[in-house]
Amino acid sequence: MTLDNTWFSEPQPDSGTAFSLKISEKLHEEQSEFQKIEIYQTESFGKLMVIDGYIMLTDRDNFIYHEMMTHPVLFSHQNPENVLIIGGGDCGTLREVLKHDSVKCAQQVDIDERVTRLSEIHFPELCESNNDPRAELHFEDGINWVKHADDKSIDIIIVDSTDPIGPGEVLFSTEFYQNCRRILKDDGLVVQQSESPLLHFDTILSPMHDRMKQAGNPHTLTFTFPQCVYPSGWWSCTVGGMTTLTNFREEDALNKNFKTLYYNATIHKAATALPEFMKSLTD
Ligand code: SAM
Repeated sequence: MTLDNTWFSEPQPDSGTAFSLKISEKLHEEQSEFQKIEIYQTESFGKLMVIDGYIMLTDRDNFIYHEMMTHPVLFSHQNPENVLIIGGGDCGTLREVLKHDSVKCAQQVDIDERVTRLSEIHFPELCESNNDPRAELHFEDGINWVKHADDKSIDIIIVDSTDPIGPGEVLFSTEFYQNCRRILKDDGLVVQQSESPLLHFDTILSPMHDRMKQAGNPHTLTFTFPQCVYPSGWWSCTVGGMTTLTNFREEDALNKNFKTLYYNATIHKAATALPEFMKSLTD
């Protein structure tokens, strides 16, 4: 919602909070087949993308989210070659995935082509790898995609979805994780954004561990990181797999041949440290 013409505000009725950004201009608004997409120019965070009233990303801080959705899970796999991104239509996650030389194919499956077309216009730096020959952009429901994909064909699935409401809701279900497990190779890993540890521990984060486990991933691990434009300013992603997740390719992370702004090997380890109230998640 806009508080007046100069502020965009995302109220969080459940927690009685709101996050606001001062805006200088509304650049775009449309109702796509699936959702309402808005783009704003903010005064201090660059451009802002909003879907159905919820902040998706800003120029200024999206690097933290996109790097943490990608590099921890890719460095936790011995040789990630085939990567599937569900959602992620802004293409920032795709760009980070393609920084890994081991990746031979990265498929991005977002339900809404309009998110990508608008990102190409308003967030061109996030789309700079879209023409990489290893990238495949598909516009389809990720749930169907995963239902029909071949068994044991994928090394990493990254679920970069909207919140568990609207078209993104089923992406948080046990049935969806079961299909993910089926199409993953035995050493394959799934990662999903798991919302705020502070606000959504009981309702989303902890149940996500249970559902991933029920779906055949005995090992689960949450990484936490700051993200000031999301509710509470503290966010997370959760990885599931059949093998232990505490070891990662630390040497490769230390000697990575690409630039990041947030992720490094020390951050990788630090992001898995669990606060006392989250200790029930211990693998
Ligand atoms: N980082 C963001 C956040 O948590 O706010 C998510 C960004 S990304 C733009 C989210 C994408 O998920 C949107 O482009 C939306 O179209 C896509 N999405 C939602 N439900 C989907 C589904 N069932 N299949 C594929 N993509 C979906």
